[in-house]
Amino acid sequence: SDASAYRGRYAPSPTGPLHAGSLLAALGSWVMSRQARGNWAVRIEDVDRLREVAGAAQGQLATLQAFGLRHDGPVLVQSTRDARYAAVVDALLARGHAFVCHCSRADLAATNGRHLGVCRASGTRPDPAIRLRVEPGTTIEFVDAIRGPQTQCVDVEVGDFVLRRADGFWAYQLAVVVDDGDQGITDVVRGADLLDSTARQILLQRILGLPTPRYAHLPLLLDGDGRKLSKSELALPVDARDPMPTLHVVWHALGQAGIDADTPSEFLEHATAHFDIARVPTHDIAIAASHNTAATRD
Ligand code: GLU
Repeated sequence: SDASAYRGRYAPSPTGPLHAGSLLAALGSWVMSRQARGNWAVRIEDVDRLREVAGAAQGQLATLQAFGLRHDGPVLVQSTRDARYAAVVDALLARGHAFVCHCSRADLAATNGRHLGVCRASGTRPDPAIRLRVEPGTTIEFVDAIRGPQTQCVDVEVGDFVLRRADGFWAYQLAVVVDDGDQGITDVVRGADLLDSTARQILLQRILGLPTPRYAHLPLLLDGDGRKLSKSELALPVDARDPMPTLHVVWHALGQAGIDADTPSEFLEHATAHFDIARVPTHDIAIAASHNTAATRD
């Protein structure tokens, strides 16, 4: 295979049906992969079994199909990857990059939940977490293809972050880095709520000797009160039987010029030909309850 080939992905968590905000991220990453004549993978991020809703993953895959967003290759399911994540964390422990941590939330309250180099645990607990050791002075810089240059002092702003949670679940930050690496992902296109996670992921990639993909963070959809759509009652499931209205709304929210199309496949063909990343807003977008209008938010 071509080492320079574009490999994108969409990685929903199966916590419920896809809403307009999830569709925006799916369409954005799909169209950028297709425009680059690349691959587009779908991955089900079900490491957090407490947030998982039964049947949600199948529903999400069916919705993507109804919207014409076809993926390449098999769907990777994180809950099948325990052994792989365990091997990576064991290697980090062995190399001293990770440590077992007995701190409780209360132990870290004085530092706003951040673990800043030193364990504050008053005793040992039967269910410790495993954290990545973030060395002092760990500043990560990257250029987001939409939001521009970014800098985070990970040791100060985040601290030693969790790789395996005290409840035994793998942390999102670990699973996403291992999977993006194993799937050879070259381009991560996703919602701007994850912009703040990117420095942690780049740090982990460096420690693991993995290449860093390019990143592009798409606008979040907000309700009229400025709340993230997924946390809002406006997060109505998109209608898989009637994809066209949602396609138009999210395309408009991506800042793109209107498309005249009767079917999803016709729409997606035009979208692939005309998508322009320079038009994607660098701020969040408020949308109306009907999902039929999207207005930019200042
Ligand atoms: N599973 C994450 C979510 O649904 C997305 C992870 C990613 O794209 O890196 O919010």
